[in-house]
Amino acid sequence: MIVMKFGGTSVEDGKAIERVAEIVGSRGDEKPVVVVSALARVTDSLVTISQLAASGALAEALRLYRQVRQRHFAVLSSLVNGRGETEVRSRLQALFDSLEEVLRGVAALGELSPRTSDNVLSFGELLSSQIVTTAFRARGIDAVLVDSRQLMVTDASYTRAVPQREETNRRLRQSLKPLLTSGRVPVMGGFIAATAEGIPTTLGRGGSDFSAALIGAGLGARKIEIWTDVEGMMTTDPRLCPDARRIDVIGFDEASELAHFGAKVLHPATLFPAVEKNIPVYILNSRNPESKGTCIRARARPSKTILRSIAAKRGVKVVNVRLPRIVAPRPRIVDPQGFLHALFEAFDRHACAADLVSTSDVSVSVAVEASRDLAELVQDLKRLGNVEVEDNKAILCLVGEKLRGRIGVAARVFGVLAGAGINVHMISQGASEINISFVIEERDIPEAVKQLHADFFAERAGDPQRVAKRTTRGGAVPRQSNGSLANATRAGL
Ligand code: ADP
Ligand code: ASP
Ligand code: MG
Repeated sequence: MIVMKFGGTSVEDGKAIERVAEIVGSRGDEKPVVVVSALARVTDSLVTISQLAASGALAEALRLYRQVRQRHFAVLSSLVNGRGETEVRSRLQALFDSLEEVLRGVAALGELSPRTSDNVLSFGELLSSQIVTTAFRARGIDAVLVDSRQLMVTDASYTRAVPQREETNRRLRQSLKPLLTSGRVPVMGGFIAATAEGIPTTLGRGGSDFSAALIGAGLGARKIEIWTDVEGMMTTDPRLCPDARRIDVIGFDEASELAHFGAKVLHPATLFPAVEKNIPVYILNSRNPESKGTCIRARARPSKTILRSIAAKRGVKVVNVRLPRIVAPRPRIVDPQGFLHALFEAFDRHACAADLVSTSDVSVSVAVEASRDLAELVQDLKRLGNVEVEDNKAILCLVGEKLRGRIGVAARVFGVLAGAGINVHMISQGASEINISFVIEERDIPEAVKQLHADFFAERAGDPQRVAKRTTRGGAVPRQSNGSLANATRAGL
């Protein structure tokens, strides 16, 4: 069997859903399980609507809610008519009624808890999976709607729930295997799940890819296909750089680094279940199904270019903690030896994952997702030293197997950035040695990506002369804002 996941743009309207039906219809003999996201932009709308309701703007929330409702009914009407339409209309209407009730509850309480937020967001995929199943059936595909909340079991960490794999696998096998054996096509909403008690949860934004991988691993799929709006995994985000090129085959490790550092085409957790079961993951374009896409698998030939790809992660904050050099009497906790230990314990206590870390003996810079509320963490860290938080930052991550042990690449990278007048705040070369990551101002991302892509992808790699020339160029060392360049030596500077 295989898993085919279709993202928001792949099911954005009637035409898109028809294309999906054609793609799935031609693959019946491969026993597909279909996973769908909410219609494009619907999850964003639900976020806005629930926040408006919580802030007391119920009328505005309901106005947007009606627009979302109208859009779903219009999409349904463009796909089916007659009795089928009436039946599904009333099922969609029931979902919208429940959603409205939740929104009114949120407005009455004036509060949106993470649990309620997950409940609201789950409607996106509940609606889309209903519509897609109907469209499939109307086109002769023997599709069955399967409620993901019944099969995908998670803990109760709402908004980023952690799957409980064993129970999920048990339920997946029990429910889906018989359907597949009898030639039916299960359709499930991605992103959504529920606790063992049945309370709806979500796997984090963009989590439908992760759902697909969990289902694939649980059922021992031959492959997992992620159908989206681009030709595959590319040498950078094509929205940032129109010259981006499709990558034919890429290794799990490289793709994983790219996903973690902002290549939105793949949710960062997607590859864990795939790696575990060694299942290849394909990224494919639902607007151009003939295109080869990208295959992500355990082994891939090294890229011809030094870099495989460039990823950019926006919405980052940098937390700088500086141990006062002279403190008398110095509390024991701020001894340099205990400093790092205490610091990471604090990050752990506040469940705040570090994306990037640069250290010296008395100062540490940690890049974290800006969406995290850092107030309590910062209070805690103030016990250790001076704390400063820098906003509006982004991480650029350059990935490539060929970076392993290669001398001079970092100098070339920072030469390009210096040439473009872009300030680098923090540098780290990943322990895996296949990435160089650094923090820059968020507003510098488009220019940085454009310049680096032009420099590293305009030519074939393995041109040592060019690398050598670059390393001797003046101005290659980045300006630094926080003295956190301890790792830069490893990066070949
Ligand atoms: P879906 O709705 O199908 O899940 P997403 O919007 O989540 O699609 O992901 C697809 C988008 O990812 C593309 O439109 C593209 O802008 C972005 N993207 C970022 N980095 C890359 C990359 N390296 N290769 C391809 N697409 C990328
Ligand atoms: N609809 C969800 C989101 O927009 C999940 C997904 O699309 O993968 O985040
Ligand atoms: Mg996505």
